[in-house]
Amino acid sequence: KNDTAPTTSLSQDKLLGGLLSAAFEESSCQSRYKSSLYRKQSPFAVSPYLVQKLRKYEAYHRKCGPGTKRYRKAIEQLKVGRNVDDAECKYVVWFPCNGLGNRMLTIASTFLYALLSDRVLLMQVAPEQEGLFCEPFPGSSWVLPGDFPHDNPQNLHIGAPESYANMLKNNVIRNDDPGSVPASSLPPYVYLHVEQFRLKLSDNVFCDEDQLMLGKFNWMILKSDSYFAPALFLTPMYEKELAKMFPQKEAVFHHLGRYLFHPTNRVWGIIRRYYEAYLARVDEKIGFQIRIFREKPIKFENMYDQLMRCVREQQLLPELSTAEPANTTADAGKVKAVLIASLYSGYYEKIRGMYYESPTKTGEIVAVYQPSHEEEQQYTSNEHNQKALAEIYLLSYCDKIAMSAWSTFGYVAYSFAGVKPWILLRPDWDKERSEVACVRSTSVEPCLHSPPILGCRAKKEVDVAAVKPYVRRCEDVGFGLKLF
Ligand code: GDP
Repeated sequence: KNDTAPTTSLSQDKLLGGLLSAAFEESSCQSRYKSSLYRKQSPFAVSPYLVQKLRKYEAYHRKCGPGTKRYRKAIEQLKVGRNVDDAECKYVVWFPCNGLGNRMLTIASTFLYALLSDRVLLMQVAPEQEGLFCEPFPGSSWVLPGDFPHDNPQNLHIGAPESYANMLKNNVIRNDDPGSVPASSLPPYVYLHVEQFRLKLSDNVFCDEDQLMLGKFNWMILKSDSYFAPALFLTPMYEKELAKMFPQKEAVFHHLGRYLFHPTNRVWGIIRRYYEAYLARVDEKIGFQIRIFREKPIKFENMYDQLMRCVREQQLLPELSTAEPANTTADAGKVKAVLIASLYSGYYEKIRGMYYESPTKTGEIVAVYQPSHEEEQQYTSNEHNQKALAEIYLLSYCDKIAMSAWSTFGYVAYSFAGVKPWILLRPDWDKERSEVACVRSTSVEPCLHSPPILGCRAKKEVDVAAVKPYVRRCEDVGFGLKLF
């Protein structure tokens, strides 16, 4: 039983086996050391090597981050258009794209990339994202300062001349002999466009020769809409290091996400109040996340029916009875809480009504909750994002999760939880309903919807799921890839 989180001093438990640094003031960001106490213990151990790597990164970020002499120097070089040889500090600047779930997945991927390529991660924080997350690196900041010169997101697109792929195409740079190219002969920054394009990750950069070339740029600007961490595992030169960092490949986002993302005290207040009010004292918590996408609308009745089929088939909730059960079962009186995350209130109304009107066969009590129903997705509202973040966290405290296919919002929640979800499959393009209601995910990793074309310079298609033992196709996205 998951009771209210106790307040103790910083134990190994609170530091998640060394994943978190102990160097923070607790009160400045209460969720950092408290949030995981609302969950069962993680089934995935953190490798000592990853812990070491994170502490080293933190020192590097403190040395080169905003406000330091080295940072000012690097910005000066960028402004005058110079890419110096042997730079002491290199940077990757993340720009936002899409909704919160997508952003969390790409921030984590970019951070992993920063760890592998020795760069300092900085983040362009748009107004809608302000005040959501605490600083993850002690004694420094990951927020991109306002004096950054190339901060117009309009310029970051597939056709941008500063993009790596376009520099290659236009012969501004070459990648056939990266070893012979002096850094100082290169432009002052490179843009890496890691977005999906025709179901593939555009700009085929997950190859050694490209990575060696990219490593010569002191400044990299990166924009992505995809969880590209699995693509890093497919880059030969990073394979060894990644194996040491993540002996269990299934836990990449699980660890990095719990290291990086900590809701600020304001958002934590929403989460904590809700948790204490409705979830802290129940016997089991079951999360349903229902997401309807514009490109594949599903009628309410069909989605509801599919959810109920999944619930029945997987026995996620007790069955209804026409009369109060005569014999009391061992489970009688236990409380199951259903937490619903959805932009709409219909699913909640119907499920709650069902358990309000009828008893269950086992005598269990089913309590149904939904924190908000915002109706519309709002990319640019800060308040809306606070609620979205709170709900991702609340979902991640559930013991079982059923979620909509394709949703990065759901991916983040189950991955934090370390729980393999049931995925409510999307109907085929020409169908209104899915034959199969839901399937169990084989992994707690998020899915990369659009894998890169591998084969690198040979430019031939390779079925990576067939050649790499640690990736497979996603249950919900047939051409997607996920680590397991
Ligand atoms: P995805 O589109 O499902 O992959 O997830 P994203 O998080 O990237 O984008 C969806 C956005 O819609 C979220 O960030 C929220 O702003 C909003 N949204 C979708 N579902 C919910 C929900 O259940 N609760 C809340 N509060 N917001 C949601």
